[in-house]
Parts: sequence; structure tokens; C-alpha cells
Amino acid sequence: MRGNRGIDTAPELALRQAVHARGLRYRKHVAPIAGLRCKADLVFFRARVAVFVDGCFWHRCPDHGELPKANRDWWKAKLTRTWDRDRANDLALQAAGWTSVRVWEHEDPDEGAARVARAVAESLPALRIATISV
Ligand SMILES: [Zn+2]
Repeated sequence: MRGNRGIDTAPELALRQAVHARGLRYRKHVAPIAGLRCKADLVFFRARVAVFVDGCFWHRCPDHGELPKANRDWWKAKLTRTWDRDRANDLALQAAGWTSVRVWEHEDPDEGAARVARAVAESLPALRIATISV
């Protein structure tokens, strides 16, 4: 699902750069699974890893996901729906044999890229040496 998710936001570009710098190649802004209305920001089809860069506000990051004071109930309902949909998508991906990696917008891009690389390497043991660098 795209919706509240911006395309090519600064945190997403930073993560893509960091992932690319590790030699990992991916598709961007595509649906990992046909039929599931959910596009991921980075998709590794062979490894079955879907990466989402989640904005702190829309996806209610524990550190920065403050509800606005005005129209609080409305925002709470709206953001809860986003949260629920994120979890439902994660479960649907998992059920189809995929790994979902969620990187917060506030996260250091290199740390995010390291998590992505680990997930890809765990799915594709043959690539372990190529993708995990110290
Ligand atoms: Zn945050």
C-alpha cells in the first residue's frame, strides 16, 4: 500500500544509497506479491525480502509518533488503521514466505542497510559472503 507513504523521500533515498553501496540490487516501488495491495520501497525478489521505509508520524514510531493535539480522536483512528494495515501486510508477506524489513525514517541509513543486508543474506545463504561486510 502506498497512500501515506511518500515516494523517493530523503530517508528512502539515503537507505537505497546505503543498500546499493553494499552491492545489493533490488527493485523499487513494486508489489512483492501479486494480489496483495501492498507495494514495498525496496524488493528483493530472489531473497523474498520486502523493505519499507516507515515515516515516524504516519507509522507511529515509538520515539516520534506523537498524536497531534487537535482532532486527536480522528488522528488516532486514522493512524491506528495505518498501523493495523502495516501489521496485516507483514503477516501476509510472512505467510507467503517473505521477510518484511521496516526501517524507520529516523534510523541511520547504514544501520538500516545492515539490517536489510542481514535479512537478504539469511534468505540467500549463498550470498552471505558477498553481502555481509564489516
Ligand atoms: Zn522516529
